[in-house]
Amino acid sequence: MDYKEYITIVEDWPKEGIKFKDITTLMDNGKAFKSAVDEIVEYARKLDIDLVVGPEARGFIVGCPVSYALEVGFAPVRKEGKLPRDVIKVDYGLEYGENVLTIHKDAIKPGQRVLIVDDLLATGGTVEASINLVEQLGGEVAGCAFLIELTYLDGRDKINDYDILTLMQY
Ligand code: 5GP
Repeated sequence: MDYKEYITIVEDWPKEGIKFKDITTLMDNGKAFKSAVDEIVEYARKLDIDLVVGPEARGFIVGCPVSYALEVGFAPVRKEGKLPRDVIKVDYGLEYGENVLTIHKDAIKPGQRVLIVDDLLATGGTVEASINLVEQLGGEVAGCAFLIELTYLDGRDKINDYDILTLMQY
């Protein structure tokens, strides 16, 4: 399926010069959204994963249906101050802005095989930070899956050592 026809490009949002890839118009289409999630599920089956990890907020939207289909758990990665129990932290850089990401200390058991899922790979800062959190807790990153990759930002170079699936490239 050509998913790109369901993505809306929003010029100068959230800042001037950014061409934001809006996935809500893909989510709006039940068949296209299911097909995209199914492709990630098929990819994940081959990796024999124990857990899906997704960064807020769009990593939840794409990652949760994947974990549901595979009957494995989902662990949220969130900005500082959002998770209610003991967390570990990592600093990261975004395509726009800087931030801290956290995960619950008990979210991953050592040796668990983890799939990281997000909507979009840009500079790779978010996925790199998520990998850092998973590995701090002793998890093994089996793969990383995204709906969209912005190839001109070379995010893939930050995660060269890992298996990567992207469904659309710009
Ligand atoms: P990175 O850390 O790879 O630079 O940026 C990826 C993160 O920023 C993802 O969590 C993604 O949700 C968000 N992001 C950056 N640019 C876009 C965009 O154009 N569209 C969407 N949907 N998310 C974006």
